[in-house]
Amino acid sequence: MSQDSSSLDRRILIDSISDYLAQLGEEGLEGIPFEPARPSPAQASEAVAQSAQGALVKSPARPVKAPAEVGPELFSVYPGLETTQTLEELRNFIGDCKRCKLAPGRTNLVFGVGNPQAELMFVGEGPGADEDERGEPFVGRAGQLLTDIIERGMRMRRQEVYICNVVKCRPPGNRNPEPDEVAACEPFLMRQIDVVRPKIIVGLGTFAVQSLLKVKIPISKLRGKWHELRGIRMMPTFHPAYLLRNPGDKRLVWADIQEVMKALGKEIPARKG
Ligand code: URA
Repeated sequence: MSQDSSSLDRRILIDSISDYLAQLGEEGLEGIPFEPARPSPAQASEAVAQSAQGALVKSPARPVKAPAEVGPELFSVYPGLETTQTLEELRNFIGDCKRCKLAPGRTNLVFGVGNPQAELMFVGEGPGADEDERGEPFVGRAGQLLTDIIERGMRMRRQEVYICNVVKCRPPGNRNPEPDEVAACEPFLMRQIDVVRPKIIVGLGTFAVQSLLKVKIPISKLRGKWHELRGIRMMPTFHPAYLLRNPGDKRLVWADIQEVMKALGKEIPARKG
């Protein structure tokens, strides 16, 4: 790594930490200095190394850990979960879930859809009304846009990839899932990731990405850079619902998706016109 790129990385990291602390302050958290002392480069690297599940990574060439090595304690809340070997077994394990307060409001538990051996996995936030109704993730307007990204942008079929969410049941009124709901569902998502074992995960939107990486850094800062989740490369990008409101940012998502395509060894279609 050259001197320049390592100091650029340090600068990005320090800016991200400063943003995070400022964001915590905006959220009313007390006891955190608003203008934090800048950490030394050694402290900054240490902070990244200590991130439990997600960390900024530079290079694709990281050894992939066997699932059993990665956070087995996460599964211990649901004894037997770690023995599920297929998506079907995992779905059966989850059953008619009543483990969190989202259960009474759902029509269908939205487990996930797609190729159980997918190289590419998309993870969104949680089901909306259409998804709750149909029991399938990303089938509403935002889902149509995600399908377009996959099929028209990436020239893949929706059935080739795997699509799921951080929480499997619809939060009422489309509010964000709450921390206890995320925590109750997290072992299932982690097992889903371990079972599918995709090459690449694309995290869709602020909520999903912040939950997956356990950070509060804005998506605008996280997107476009490779991160790591359970030994798998993860690319954050904007949520398709955000793109429906901000179509001007589609070009940024396309840039992120092109990185994903390169990492998958796929040809990037030439731009029209
Ligand atoms: N938004 C999500 O995050 N997930 C869905 O399944 C649908 C919309």
